[in-house]
Amino acid sequence: MTTWMRETVLIDGIWQQRKQISTVYDPATEEVVGSAAVATVDDVDAAVRAARAAGIEWGRTDATTRADLLDAIHAQLLADRAQLVAATVAEVGAPVTVAEEAHVDLAIEIIASFARISREEPLHSVIGNSTILRRPAGVIGAITPWNYPLYQLAAKVGAALAAGCTAVVKPAELTPLSTYLFCDAMLAAGLPAGVVNLVPGPGSLVGSAIVEHPGVDVVSFTGSTPVGRQVARVAGEQLKRACLELGGKSASVVLDDADLEAAVTGSVDAAMLNSGQTCSAWTRLIVPRSRYAEAVDIAASHADTLIVGDPRDRATQLGPVISGRQRASIVEAVEDALHRGARLAAGGTATIAERGHFLRPTVLADVDRGDPIAREEIFGPVLVVLPHDGDEDAIAAANDSEYGLAGAVWSADRERSLAVAGRMDTGQVDINGAAFNPLAPFGGWKKSGLGRELGLVGIEEFTEITSVQL
Ligand code: NAD
Repeated sequence: MTTWMRETVLIDGIWQQRKQISTVYDPATEEVVGSAAVATVDDVDAAVRAARAAGIEWGRTDATTRADLLDAIHAQLLADRAQLVAATVAEVGAPVTVAEEAHVDLAIEIIASFARISREEPLHSVIGNSTILRRPAGVIGAITPWNYPLYQLAAKVGAALAAGCTAVVKPAELTPLSTYLFCDAMLAAGLPAGVVNLVPGPGSLVGSAIVEHPGVDVVSFTGSTPVGRQVARVAGEQLKRACLELGGKSASVVLDDADLEAAVTGSVDAAMLNSGQTCSAWTRLIVPRSRYAEAVDIAASHADTLIVGDPRDRATQLGPVISGRQRASIVEAVEDALHRGARLAAGGTATIAERGHFLRPTVLADVDRGDPIAREEIFGPVLVVLPHDGDEDAIAAANDSEYGLAGAVWSADRERSLAVAGRMDTGQVDINGAAFNPLAPFGGWKKSGLGRELGLVGIEEFTEITSVQL
């Protein structure tokens, strides 16, 4: 088995050896698959200084120069694709087909999208006698979670480069390996020294040092709502911007004219993707009451067909969850719900492998809308099926959440589905399983976050405006 033993931080274009190392485990085998340096607070300071210094020149580059670098990074990532996939399988436990499509290829596509936007869409605009300049905001502190490490990194670093910003990157401790490979690719593609710096380590030390550093102009954080709140508090104290991509409990709303089989199986697949560790997962399936029993049956039978197992086997659809701790928290949430009267339609909490943090895809029925299992983010392969009494009630149920990150509507009627989608208080709505669009803004309402990533809007988040009147 390939391992990735890294012991360095990247500061000002130079890999620097560090004594303190953290170990990375494969969630499927529980074996060591690699290591990462543990950066210090001094490293964060040096990285921020390097990013500030590099920003003087990089911030003055034109859009073509930025697009050229993004194109070169894109080409290098394509060349390194096999390694990126292998590292993602090893550290996240994502099945190889999911690692290819949803992790690596999506990240590569996002870099390509930022290159294209840089070439085609000017950041500046004209309003009457004003030229609205969108200038680089400065140093971006990019803090990423473990569930889609490469996607998050590409969304933050790609937008930073396109905006003319520089960055200090901190990956999650559980999944730093693919971030190292991504940095290797950027350097091989000609990334100027200091434009992106890498300081792995614990959030409580390295993450908070990035957020607190006065030399960081914008914090771009993806992770849990409690940590996001803390990041916002510190950033607010310094009046620096914090872009926050946080949790979700998104609703998939099935209207009474929808193709029930397609809607339910599509929703189960989306809920279980990446073992349910997807911030935008549709974890509440809201179906017409008259077809509730049928919908639960379809969901349960479909969940039962999903193949859970070795992520390196191309037939596998669900790998393990990320850690023993994460598994225990999912098990506790499901068992508590069952004690409160939820019905287990599929899956459950039984141990299914001697090694690895595996769980069966679980479908719960007969749950009250107010029950914690229908309200709290579980971040595991758990779907709750709820009934609705018509479109108004379905919209009310979908919006009855502290979160608002994503969602779905299923209907045979285009206008009707658009009308329902337009009243869901959430950042993204997919109609009848429409494809993810990396050019469209992504982010959350309510406790799902602040600001948006991806596309032109994602680049604009990393700019400051100067209006010049002539
Ligand atoms: P987490 O909040 O514990 O950690 C996220 C990142 O923040 C990690 O790199 C961590 O080291 C760092 N961190 C932790 N404490 C910090 C602090 N005090 N200051 C600065 N940084 C700190 O989240 P996680 O467990 O890694 O990820 C799972 C959570 O992330 C889930 O709740 C999920 O919904 C959410 N998430 C959201 C999105 C999105 O786009 N909205 C995407 C992925 C994950």
